[in-house]
Amino acid sequence: MPLLRKGTPLYGIIHCKCPKCQKGELFIHSSHYHLSGLLDMPDKCPLCGRDFQIEPGFYLGAMWVSYPVVIFLIIGSLLLAHFLLHFHLIMSFVFAGIVLLFTGPPLLRYSRVLFLYLFAEE
Ligand SMILES: [Zn+2]
Repeated sequence: MPLLRKGTPLYGIIHCKCPKCQKGELFIHSSHYHLSGLLDMPDKCPLCGRDFQIEPGFYLGAMWVSYPVVIFLIIGSLLLAHFLLHFHLIMSFVFAGIVLLFTGPPLLRYSRVLFLYLFAEE
């Protein structure tokens, strides 16, 4: 698939790579579930030197990327659990909470990656 080839922006987003060279890692820890250092990023790309610390508070804008995704995820999980899996309403909320628990850490990272790709100038 040409869009997912190495060196394309979509490949860079999926694999959390530098937006400039698509080779350098955006995060220090490669695992999305390394909770103590989940959002630790190097100051610059180790390969091309692209600055990842655009300005103080730059990544606060990533909340606006994750917010609609979380809303969609919670509502989707609730509807799935209640209407398709026929869970009781309380258990549907528990199900949505569990889904959010497991998708939350990668979601935090991908919201940063998307925000960086969308709004950081080259
Ligand atoms: Zn780079």
